[in-house]
Amino acid sequence: MRIRSIRARLTVWYSSLLTVTFLLLGGAGYGLLSYNLAQDMDRALSGVAKVLADQARRTGAASFSPDVDELFRRFFGFSPWQRYFDLITPPGRQEFRIPPDSGKLPLSPKAREDAQKGLPTFETVEGPGRHPVRILTLPIVEAGRVVNLVQVGMSMEMTEATLRRFLLTMAALFPVGLLLAGGGGWLLARRALRPVDRIAQTARRISAEHLAARLEDTGANDELNRLVGTLNDMLERLDASFHQIRRFSADASHELQTPLTILKGEIEVALRSPRTPDEYRAVLTSALEEIDRLTRLVEGLLLLARADAGVLRLDRRSVDLAKLVEDVCGQAKILADAGHVVLRQEGMEYLTIFGDYDQLRRVLLNLVDNGIKYTPAGGQVGISLRREGPWAALRVADSGIGLSPEEQKQIFERFYRSPEAKSRGEGGAGLGLCIARSIVEAHGGKIQVASTPGQGSAFTVLLPLPS
Ligand code: ADP
Repeated sequence: MRIRSIRARLTVWYSSLLTVTFLLLGGAGYGLLSYNLAQDMDRALSGVAKVLADQARRTGAASFSPDVDELFRRFFGFSPWQRYFDLITPPGRQEFRIPPDSGKLPLSPKAREDAQKGLPTFETVEGPGRHPVRILTLPIVEAGRVVNLVQVGMSMEMTEATLRRFLLTMAALFPVGLLLAGGGGWLLARRALRPVDRIAQTARRISAEHLAARLEDTGANDELNRLVGTLNDMLERLDASFHQIRRFSADASHELQTPLTILKGEIEVALRSPRTPDEYRAVLTSALEEIDRLTRLVEGLLLLARADAGVLRLDRRSVDLAKLVEDVCGQAKILADAGHVVLRQEGMEYLTIFGDYDQLRRVLLNLVDNGIKYTPAGGQVGISLRREGPWAALRVADSGIGLSPEEQKQIFERFYRSPEAKSRGEGGAGLGLCIARSIVEAHGGKIQVASTPGQGSAFTVLLPLPS
């Protein structure tokens, strides 16, 4: 089953980790406790055995004080009622021989073997009751000879009870701890994820029509607030592009509507009463001009749409830029002469790039045309071609009306025309520079403007030279 909510998933993870930690710690605790208890028991057995052995050695007989219980309590602090001991006296004097079943406590072959070597043996054996018994078999050595054996046993009941109590405590604490931690985890996750719900709610309200809405910024420097920041930035960009698209559609329909209205008006007027052939010709010529304007506009919009979609097709081949400048100058000469503007070629280097000749011609012609349009009679427009590092720099500089810094920022936007240009009734729809930039960028280049109002402008097209 897949758990869908992050909160539930976090809680499950948290509880699982806690269970593993609890089990590991519990296991380690249990192991340590049982090891320590066993050590304590062996130490106690050794102590008791030593006392008994000393006593046997002192008295020289196989008997010991009847007050052993008292002795135990004083030295070791426990009652010996569950402890067993035996003193085995070997019968032979010359040779030490241990009888196979000499006392209450069992004597294993291993303990017997170890005792003959003078070594103590610790063993755990079945006890008389329900609990096993831990036994220490300690040889009593005198003058290098084993003369006797002391066996001390202790029921493991207490040890087992302690371990059982430990396990019971763990078993009781585990579900409570798990429940508390799981509940706490669930609440914590809910608290931590509450802002996410809030973000989701606000985001649900934001649609294309309400892109101005923003997610609430808490000012905290945490992950969620950073996410809010990123989403708000994204909304900002979306809002800007939606705004741009809406303005573009409005501008485009307005620009298309104007020539159509003029066309319709002219034709209607012409049809209202009979006209002479010359009058009809004039109307048709004007209609053709409007149709040309419309065609150019639609072509421009189509080119921009293709560039936006990244499907602007370039017919790339080797382009001699000096020849391109010559070509454009030849065509623009008529415009310059009509506007009484001097058109000059300044500083020409012979540079060749790889690109679309017709599109680049369109760019340069637009720049030169603008230069002539926005330069008063008597002014000049200069074209230069130079290498600037890895670029071929085509510069069109005029001594015209110039552009303010604000205008310079906007001239590459679609349908932007400066108030000055609008009042003069000059120019086209304000798509020329935008189209120029799209073409230049499709060539991997860039277009820059530098201008001083009243003194003139310089547009530079930088195209990458083949390396
Ligand atoms: P248009 O077809 O209207 O000339 P452009 O995109 O070519 O459109 O130019 C946009 C605007 O930039 C123009 O309306 C004009 O205000 C300004 N502009 C462009 N070139 C020049 C220039 N050389 N000098 C002054 N203003 C310019």
